[in-house]
Amino acid sequence: MKLVFATNNSHKLKEVQEMLPNSIQLVSLKDINCTEDVAETETTLQGNAALKANFITQNFQLDSFADDTGLEVACLNGKPGVYSARFAGEPSNAEKNMEKLLNKMTNFSDRSAQFRTVICLNLDGNQYFFEGICKGSILTEKHGIEGFGYDPIFQPEGFQQSFAEMNSEEKNKISHRGLAIEKLVAFLTNYVY
Ligand code: IMP
Repeated sequence: MKLVFATNNSHKLKEVQEMLPNSIQLVSLKDINCTEDVAETETTLQGNAALKANFITQNFQLDSFADDTGLEVACLNGKPGVYSARFAGEPSNAEKNMEKLLNKMTNFSDRSAQFRTVICLNLDGNQYFFEGICKGSILTEKHGIEGFGYDPIFQPEGFQQSFAEMNSEEKNKISHRGLAIEKLVAFLTNYVY
């Protein structure tokens, strides 16, 4: 089975391919000569994931999946959510995003938050969604240098370190994206056999 992963992130592609059985071959956007950057214009993670997967299925007639992730902060009513990448404006800047988030939270004692990933899979004419959630809290200052995005200020529940103080193996085991990918891989493995 050939499946397009609608992402330009080669690291994500490699990570998922390593988790899949050999009978499922992941194909990148580059492999199908897709250079178009699909604008994430929807207002939900599910909507954006579907937008990206549908673009490939409709324009290339190929089975495809795509993901979208957001950081949902309780005291900000779920913001920045679907707008996490460009919270402090465009182009996306992780330092500015963290600074803006910490400033907005100064007067709140409830610092609980979660990362949520939604994957949309288009397969044989059907559409499936998979969700991964990692609960935790927003620290008052940055800790660690690993990872990307909001990692230095996010501490997952049950841990004393931020995501940026973990190596990628430790993080992938408990992360929103890791959990959503695990669900996708379990579904595909079952589907193929
Ligand atoms: P994407 O949908 O994977 O591109 O994620 C959207 C935005 O959410 C990113 O630009 C980051 O700001 C944030 N984000 C997603 N996943 C993570 C993560 O694992 N750690 C920190 N920030 C993340």
